Amino acid sequence: MSMVEFQNVSKKFGESTVLRDINLNIDTGEVVVVVGPSGSGKSTFLRCINVLETIEGGELLVDGLSVKGTPAEVREIRREAGMVFQQFNLFPQLTALENVMFGPIHTRGMSRDEARAEAEALLAKVGLSERMGHYPSELSGGQQQRVAIARALAIKPKLMLFDEPTSALDPELRHEVLKVMRDLAEEGMTMVVVTHEMEFARKVGSRLIFIDGGRVAHDGPPQELLSNPPSQRLRDFLQHVS
Ligand code: ADP
Ligand code: MG
Repeated sequence: MSMVEFQNVSKKFGESTVLRDINLNIDTGEVVVVVGPSGSGKSTFLRCINVLETIEGGELLVDGLSVKGTPAEVREIRREAGMVFQQFNLFPQLTALENVMFGPIHTRGMSRDEARAEAEALLAKVGLSERMGHYPSELSGGQQQRVAIARALAIKPKLMLFDEPTSALDPELRHEVLKVMRDLAEEGMTMVVVTHEMEFARKVGSRLIFIDGGRVAHDGPPQELLSNPPSQRLRDFLQHVS
């Protein structure tokens, strides 16, 4: 079954069209890596999925729910789609554990004890058992991003959206975040990942999408597109990022 369905989706900011006639389905369990030049619409593409942006034209369904639906439907979509940003966006005044407990308590109405048990398990899963009582300012960027992933997982999303999750990190801290993402992919999580990490795309992605000027220019198996780029635009882009 499709987890995400774009049907002729277009998105404008004022007069400028940022996404044009996007048509694609993302199935449950797919790991879709989205690449493209800066300003091509990658973040907007992700943000439309969890309704951080509204669409002008077409229809966009997430787990069968319309982003143009009732406020209750939109809330449900947001609950089902966990998002991880380039800037980790943790609550600075809360510890790692409290950051992960926050969503379940405040959006799912879970008890503190249950939320704590789940948060501890999630922080262990991302390798941070030893850092649960630390504040974001006491953690490295890679650790903060792993807390952000645990926090997104705490609301039990059906799909995970990542917007350049390693771009703000020093190169030596990237692998620990990519490892957590790879584990998630191997567990079968449906993921849409905007990234410049071509090795991740090649090894973990089940599908690669190249967005160029607000259009889906290529959509196919990562190995194939990366080993044998079908256009000069993609060849130029790949030379730029690698
Ligand atoms: P990418 O993530 O690929 O770099 P974005 O989706 O962030 O691209 O942006 C695509 C285009 O939309 C860019 O030209 C950007 O300047 C514009 N844009 C993004 N967000 C807004 C906004 N809130 N208001 C106006 N223009 C925006
Ligand atoms: Mg972006």
